[in-house]
Amino acid sequence: MPTHPNPWLPVLRLAGPAGDALAVAGLFGLVAMVALGTRLPWVERRMGLDRVYRVHKLLGMAIPPALILHALLRTVAFSLKHAGKSPWSFLFYFGTGNPALLLGHVALYLLILLVPIAIWGRHRLSFWLWKNTHLVLYAAVAVAFSHAWLEGTKGPPDVWSMLFYGAIGAILLFLFVYRLATRMSLRGRGVWRVDRVARETADTTTLVLERPEGQGPFSSRRAGQFAIIRVMGERGWSEPHPFTISAPPHSDKLHFTIKAAGRFTSAVPGLKRGTPVLCEGPYGIFSPDFEKERDLVFISGGVGITPFLSILRHAAHKRAQSRIVLFSCNRTFADVIAHEELGAAARDLSLRVVHVLGKMPDEGAPEGGGRVFYESGRLSAEILSKHCEAKGGASFYLCGPPPMQTAVLRLLKDAFGVPPAKVRRELFFF
Ligand SMILES: Cc1cc2nc3c(=O)[nH]c(=O)nc-3n(C[C@H](O)[C@H](O)[C@H](O)COP(=O)(O)OP(=O)(O)OC[C@H]3O[C@@H](n4cnc5c(N)ncnc54)[C@H](O)[C@@H]3O)c2cc1C
Repeated sequence: MPTHPNPWLPVLRLAGPAGDALAVAGLFGLVAMVALGTRLPWVERRMGLDRVYRVHKLLGMAIPPALILHALLRTVAFSLKHAGKSPWSFLFYFGTGNPALLLGHVALYLLILLVPIAIWGRHRLSFWLWKNTHLVLYAAVAVAFSHAWLEGTKGPPDVWSMLFYGAIGAILLFLFVYRLATRMSLRGRGVWRVDRVARETADTTTLVLERPEGQGPFSSRRAGQFAIIRVMGERGWSEPHPFTISAPPHSDKLHFTIKAAGRFTSAVPGLKRGTPVLCEGPYGIFSPDFEKERDLVFISGGVGITPFLSILRHAAHKRAQSRIVLFSCNRTFADVIAHEELGAAARDLSLRVVHVLGKMPDEGAPEGGGRVFYESGRLSAEILSKHCEAKGGASFYLCGPPPMQTAVLRLLKDAFGVPPAKVRRELFFF
């Protein structure tokens, strides 16, 4: 019987090179993912930590499928080369006879298993489990790199391959050493102590930290930035939590205005004076430039007022001339944080404060006076237009719960034609 050549053969022959291209893309992706997870300051200053983590997570979602496809395509290439051999034996090879393949498979299966846990488990698993999953993932990246190095440099010596893999290895080593060094220096320079805890509203307190030895990296912070803090307890340092520094940059103490949302935040009011608190940062790019931004519109929901507290305190200190409208949205008057201070700021600065209350007090709105106003219900296009003109040049800043942010972005588009990308946002979630 004559045998007909497989019409798909020319396409199947592309499997090898396509698989190799995916491997290189996957390797670049892994390096970028590790670099973003390392929180390099010059990257964070340009992107902001929330976006850094979002891209880190997106890469985590994209890389395992790319590497699975790489393994499948290499399996096709293998079966073409060794006609008759079972391709599946190649895909599940864990022998020591081919160390490069063994390392590749260990890395691939670790990534397939652990990346979904790392992404899904952030707020569902215990921090200990989530963190250790990440540590094993970083080890898997090192194993994946060893696989790539062995595969990429096999055959006759090739200076370009050596340079390419050498450079990638050097970058990974640098990131590892950098992260280790920042963690070690944090233990020395990042420990603050509780000075006091002051109640703001029924469920919000301000935690004040001091550090007589100096502020370390926080001495160069900008208004609106945040820190990641851990509190010393009976079982050592707690898991890390991000909070905006509500004190302005010229304050030598760190203030965090914290709403009780869960286990950690509910324990804040009970913290004793002198308790050590490890502070990492400052992070974030939610900081207006009063020299350049002359018209500012701030919109906050609930405890989302914290970056604006820091920004307005800084503006008062600098005697900033920018015209500012603050829409502070809360459910009731009792939920308003720093009400009197905002009133005083409205007198001192070119500031209009608009309290938007879901439910007005039965006795009616408190005395507004001057530049403090009260509106009832939800923030609407009418309320926005009533208190600020549709100014093309204004800068919009928004901080509040995610559903509120979605609604406000739509309002700003309707009321002023401001595209969502033009609104600077701080997401209290990553
Ligand atoms: C950049 C940034 C700045 C923030 N600033 C402030 C602030 O100034 N004041 C304030 O009260 N809160 C702030 N938060 C939110 C604060 O970090 C969380 O409310 C807190 O970590 C929840 O911890 P918990 O153990 O008390 O609650 P949990 O029991 O862990 O969770 C309670 C709720 O908070 C969510 N949550 C848990 N961990 C985080 C986290 N790391 N990031 C975001 N949401 C989380 C959970 O999904 C859940 O809905 C900020 C968050 C970010 C990302």
